[in-house]
Amino acid sequence: MSEVSKEYNFSEVEKKWVQSWDSSIYHFDWESKKPQYIIDTPPPYPTGDFHIGNALNWCYIDYVARYKRMRGYNVMFPQGWDCHGLPTEVKVEQLNHITKNQVPRAEFRRLCEKLTFEAIERFHLSMGRLGLSTDWSNEYVTMKPEYYVKTQTSFVRMCQNGQIYRANHPVNWCPRCGTAIAFAEVEYDSRTTTLNYMRFSAEEGEMQIATSRPELLPACVAVAVNPDDERYRKYIGKTVSVPIFNYEVPVLADPVVDTSFGTGIVMICTFGDRQDVRWWMEHHLPLRQSIDREGMLTDIAGPYAGLSVAEAKKKITQDMVNEGIIFKQEPLEQNVGLCWRCKTPIEILSEQQWFVKINREEIKKTAEEIEWVPPHMQVRLKNWADSMEWDWCISRQRIFATPIPVWYCRHCQEPKIAREEWLPLDPNQVNPPEKCKCGSTDFIAEQDVLDTWMDSSISALAVAGWPDRKDLRMPTQLRPQGHDIIRTWAFYTILRTKSLEGVKPWDTILVNGMALGEDGHKMSKSLNNFIRPEEVFQTNGADALRQWGAMGGSPGNDIMFQWKEITAASRFQQKLWSIYRFSLPLIAKVDAVPGQVDRWLLGELDSLIIKATTAMDAYQFDETMKAIRGFAWEVLADNYIELVKARLYGPDGPEKRAAQNTLYTALKTISQLMAPFTPFISEEIHHTLTGESVHVQSWPEPSGVAIDLAGLAIKEIAAALRRYKAEKGMALNSPLRGIVVYSDLSLETIDLVGVANSQVDSRTGSPQIEMRPIAIRPQMKVIGPRFKDKSGKIIKALSGMDPALVSDQKNRGIIAVPVDDEIIEVPAQAAEIVVESLSAGEAVDIMHLEKATVLVRR
Ligand SMILES: [Zn+2]
Ligand SMILES: [Zn+2]
Repeated sequence: MSEVSKEYNFSEVEKKWVQSWDSSIYHFDWESKKPQYIIDTPPPYPTGDFHIGNALNWCYIDYVARYKRMRGYNVMFPQGWDCHGLPTEVKVEQLNHITKNQVPRAEFRRLCEKLTFEAIERFHLSMGRLGLSTDWSNEYVTMKPEYYVKTQTSFVRMCQNGQIYRANHPVNWCPRCGTAIAFAEVEYDSRTTTLNYMRFSAEEGEMQIATSRPELLPACVAVAVNPDDERYRKYIGKTVSVPIFNYEVPVLADPVVDTSFGTGIVMICTFGDRQDVRWWMEHHLPLRQSIDREGMLTDIAGPYAGLSVAEAKKKITQDMVNEGIIFKQEPLEQNVGLCWRCKTPIEILSEQQWFVKINREEIKKTAEEIEWVPPHMQVRLKNWADSMEWDWCISRQRIFATPIPVWYCRHCQEPKIAREEWLPLDPNQVNPPEKCKCGSTDFIAEQDVLDTWMDSSISALAVAGWPDRKDLRMPTQLRPQGHDIIRTWAFYTILRTKSLEGVKPWDTILVNGMALGEDGHKMSKSLNNFIRPEEVFQTNGADALRQWGAMGGSPGNDIMFQWKEITAASRFQQKLWSIYRFSLPLIAKVDAVPGQVDRWLLGELDSLIIKATTAMDAYQFDETMKAIRGFAWEVLADNYIELVKARLYGPDGPEKRAAQNTLYTALKTISQLMAPFTPFISEEIHHTLTGESVHVQSWPEPSGVAIDLAGLAIKEIAAALRRYKAEKGMALNSPLRGIVVYSDLSLETIDLVGVANSQVDSRTGSPQIEMRPIAIRPQMKVIGPRFKDKSGKIIKALSGMDPALVSDQKNRGIIAVPVDDEIIEVPAQAAEIVVESLSAGEAVDIMHLEKATVLVRR
């Protein structure tokens, strides 16, 4: 066998396997008779850097994929790329110093695609280096026609069954990005604004209204009071005049109005917030849109038209202060909705958009049919479902996204939705191949594109063969994802799968935590706590990073990146390597009858397998790794190997072969159990031992050997002997004068002979022990205070007495000490008796253990 280096060279080993592995062994077999295990893996945005968070997510998936493969499943670990979306557009704009409208749509899209393909290439390299068992035969790229044809098909089918519709409806709008966004893309942050108290005039007298958004005055369509509020009862049903803009609006009664906020009167604008939308719908109010798509005031704002929201706010406020309409101002803490991407405050605009119907109850019911790990994550989904105010707006006013396959007839305005067989298509590139119902062939293409989540929310369907395969593999088995995208990816996937195929998307959803920096904050470049996986590949290797991921705790918890954990992982790898390096020249796969110590080890190995299997089935990766580390380090290295060294180094014979085979079995099994976590070192060890890849092996099965109690007792005796030698200051290999072991387990002696480096007799029953007094230790602290100046003489005389005689007297309570012809009686505590243990007349040291008594000749 080739020479094994003393230090584990992770870099050399990992690079070697990255180059030589054949990734086709990870391909999903559509013809296989094995049970399927399809993982609906997250398709990341390939634009950013590959970071520790990506690595952690993928590690979790890879642990499961490799484990399930070893358990005999036909596993699919696909890899998708969620390409479309604003982040890429923004990056292309920055890199090329353009805005999306300065180049033709097709050219802008081409630039986005180029950037994305380059990023995917970089990800491929990092993922290979991380040792992932990705199934590259099931890779999908959402910007490619072969994927977005699925998105478009799903759109067409949901239009046909009425689950997608087009309507003029309020939507969340980012004026900077110039697009509608979904609720899930709105972030909330608290900001300090100003609450302005204004006078509205009415025939019944002045009404005072407080608002933080005077720039919405031209959008005011009503004012509302609480019907129980005595102060304002007289105004209900009358009208008031909107100051500055001078038009009348009705005064409504609505029980939702908070009588304690501001003056207890609110103005309803289209739209300041979600409550305005509710009132607008309930009271069938007219629409006055004062803010346009670019965030500028519209013509109804009169002299303020064309100003930005911020400018208009300032100017209108100033004018009203000057005219005495605003008579009081105070600071107000307010939760403001922001665009998730650019943090610009969002506006609510009423827009002609495409929507997906949301059936809350159906989504919640489907969520209940899915196993959630950990279970409490399901609550987040349900809460989110209950908080949604209106349907999911899926149209976006951007470019780099799946085109909406729709045209509008220029003659009769009727929308023409593409037929499935025409897809994929971009309506801006082609005309529909048939006339409008009215006979016209003059169409306007839909310019809007689809929300990126429309692509990724059919990921489970897509990997399961939708829509082409007759044998659609739904539901898939596992959805692994972060808790940060429960309200988007998990929510939308459940909705869409149920809508399109009437089934739940997955059997189980496994929710992992976020990777935090060493300071406990979310990793980010700006906080300077950002670690790239490549840094760890360089310093400690991919296996060490993967072990950190596994040790990070139970699913759902955030996990902090810590270099000391990486170091601990490396240390364990080195320990395993040392065991392997020691064992390799000594072990063999041979037929042998295991002895007591071997059966103890094999029994421990069985319980490790059972523990690891249970933990893996519950996605408790940390428990699995802890059990493996504990076994390898303590059971195998510290105890078993120390016990059987003499056999391994000794002459050939059945006992030697039993140790050789047992150690071989243990090492091979460890490499298999660790294969899901540390694919590189596991492969290196397993491949050297067996000539086969560990990644095509089955998960180890318990061999049915119970822990041998005699072997366990021998292990404990060996440990006691090591302690004994250490206490006596003896070298561990220094010989002892002889050992007799008493136990009812009829212990084998061969390994104890090696450990003790002495002769060992094994007997049943208990030893006959005789205790013989051999010396006296006078106790000055007892004698001194009582006998003062006689103490010296007493001690001297006491020391000279016969230990057996003194021991007798001590047992009776008084010791008679002859001093200068006088007998002085001292109390029993004045002397301590040193005894020695005798067995068959020989002096011995005795160790009482649970299952044995050990005598060591002195
Ligand atoms: Zn934005
Ligand atoms: Zn028409």
